[in-house]
Amino acid sequence: MIKFKPYRIVVNGNDQDDVEYGRWKATGADPAKKPQNLDDKELKPNPFFSEQHALYETEVLRRLLKISKLRTGQLVLAASRQLASDLYIIPPGIRDTVISIESDSIRFQICPASTAHARPANPYLKNSRVVFSPFLTGSCPKDAPYADDSTLLHELVHGVRPSQFEKLKPESTNDQWTDLEEFFAVIVQDIYLSERGDKEVRGGHDAGASSLPATRVASYEFMENKTNYARVKAALKREKLAQQLALLEDIPFNPFAEFERAKHDLRSI
Ligand SMILES: [Zn+2]
Repeated sequence: MIKFKPYRIVVNGNDQDDVEYGRWKATGADPAKKPQNLDDKELKPNPFFSEQHALYETEVLRRLLKISKLRTGQLVLAASRQLASDLYIIPPGIRDTVISIESDSIRFQICPASTAHARPANPYLKNSRVVFSPFLTGSCPKDAPYADDSTLLHELVHGVRPSQFEKLKPESTNDQWTDLEEFFAVIVQDIYLSERGDKEVRGGHDAGASSLPATRVASYEFMENKTNYARVKAALKREKLAQQLALLEDIPFNPFAEFERAKHDLRSI
């Protein structure tokens, strides 16, 4: 188990909860014998050394270090310090596919990393969880972004904002962004990708959403769309993280900075 200081982030490769749950399922799933306290076990370190767990933690740490080198990443990591309890990054497992609606067992069997998702803290769950795999195992396409640091960053955006997540996740957008929470997380991910120097950013949350060029022009055009504009405006009013990101004016694709620029342009007329 690795504590990523000074942030409230812990990486735990121990997946004892998934192992016990899987064993119970495979041996008849007798309700009387169902393993107890698995939510707690999910956060416990392995008392013995495990090469597999150590490798997981090292690879996740490597991605956290990449995230910490970019300003967008630093702001997301810093937001974890406002959490009441530590956020845990844990590997995807068979039990996660049962708990989360964003993960399913068929996808898990084909490509475990593709089931990356966040389970932010709520009144019944003390610690936020980010389920993420740094390995493209199974039949994952070799060029898939699932194990990338930008995917981890996206899930951290959910995990460090538990109360916003709870409010925004049910707000379906009925378009390629899924809901207002995903709109926010993808925009932050896009700003990160643009700062990293990628040539393209995500144009939606759906797997099939087309990408956008990571340019200032694309950022401007994105904000010419009234729906995008209204959502960015609401996010800036609502969230400190958006206000902080708006200050990073030199990042080419940055709708938050674009909104602030548009305001200034109008004033100068
Ligand atoms: Zn998401």
